[in-house]
Amino acid sequence: MEVSPLEPPAGFVERAAALGVAFEAGELERLGAFLAMMLETNKTHNLTAITDPTEAWTRHILDALTLLAVLSTLEDGSRVADIGSGGGVPGVPLAIVLPGLNFTLVDATGKKATFLRDAVSALGLTNVTVLQDRAERMGQDLAHREQYDAVVARAVGPMPMLIELLAPLAKVGGAVLAIKGAKAAEELASAKDAIRAVGATYERTLETPTGKVLAFLKARKTALAYPRSGGLPKTKPLGSERKK
Ligand code: SAH
Repeated sequence: MEVSPLEPPAGFVERAAALGVAFEAGELERLGAFLAMMLETNKTHNLTAITDPTEAWTRHILDALTLLAVLSTLEDGSRVADIGSGGGVPGVPLAIVLPGLNFTLVDATGKKATFLRDAVSALGLTNVTVLQDRAERMGQDLAHREQYDAVVARAVGPMPMLIELLAPLAKVGGAVLAIKGAKAAEELASAKDAIRAVGATYERTLETPTGKVLAFLKARKTALAYPRSGGLPKTKPLGSERKK
């Protein structure tokens, strides 16, 4: 894919610095190249509703980089899974600025996985693997279950469903990070039973430029019953049978 990188808007580097992010040589250009590819592909395949370049730098790049507060504490060689990566957020921006970590970007849709593979190869990212797969299946596959030091996601579903998809993939002691909107506190409250059921505990909420990140610890092994198959995490989310 040959498109020229988007320039960061005025004030972008300062806003990133406020999040504790400093860029190494070439990283801003790679981030801009990623956005250019995403917006170009978006003309023919739906990847994002955000088409304004300035907004894309904030909503896609800064939002993703908020997770550095947790991910930059991981040792080199640690494994991070981005579930429902879609157009590559948050996984691709994170893989650009954290070259020492190994990223697995997962999406159930073939067209999304194809875009992700093309983008990763055009950007020359050697620390990224792309899988077309479903989180429910991976969570029951010993090659993936409890194999990741951190599992991250944005805009894949409500928290009770999401924690059932993400937590089984995290190692005990690993992190689960969900980028959420302004209603993060309500989402957290609605997922209390689900969080406990899958062996996670809530740790803290990080502020992003556009919302909040819910950070969880994978505290205990996940019971083998989870994640459930057949679409149950979505249609019958854990805790939904109990009256609130
Ligand atoms: N994370 C991206 C995309 C969000 S759209 C962003 O924030 O921009 C949600 C994506 O999750 C879609 O691409 C969809 O194909 C994928 N998805 C939904 N459920 C999934 C599942 N169970 N396993 C894997 N991918 C899933």
